[in-house]
Amino acid sequence: MSIMTSDLALSEPERLVYEIIRRETELHGGVFQVKLKEFAELRHLEPQQIARIVSKLVKQGLVKRKLVDNNGRSMYFLQAVITSTPSMPKLKKLDVPIELSTVIEIPCFTCKDLYDCVAGGYISPHNCPKLTKYLLQKIRTSRQS
Ligand code: SF4
Repeated sequence: MSIMTSDLALSEPERLVYEIIRRETELHGGVFQVKLKEFAELRHLEPQQIARIVSKLVKQGLVKRKLVDNNGRSMYFLQAVITSTPSMPKLKKLDVPIELSTVIEIPCFTCKDLYDCVAGGYISPHNCPKLTKYLLQKIRTSRQS
């Protein structure tokens, strides 16, 4: 079954939330629900309003929501299921070949600085102790096996 843009009937706040989840899915494989309120475009929305919108998007089949363990805390991880942008009038399935269990251990996924972290910036992957520790651990593990 294909879903047409006209069938979606999203309000402006719903469209905003959906667009951010879609963008983050394309860029990073998804986004934690708790992080949504940190996006500038959504700062005018209450967290409860964002949670209601996410539930609606999940019910509509536009977003996939999975409860994951993040350092002992259960958190919702969101992934857009289909894309819908003005430049892409036909909706198409996103093929995100990422298995959550294989990437959740990467420190960037749960990092509070993710959206300020840029190459060459004050916060950067080039000088990040968390990422360095993770990568060294991976190298050690792969050498042992
Ligand atoms: S590189 Fe380090 S600071 Fe940047 S997002 Fe990853 S864990 Fe966070």
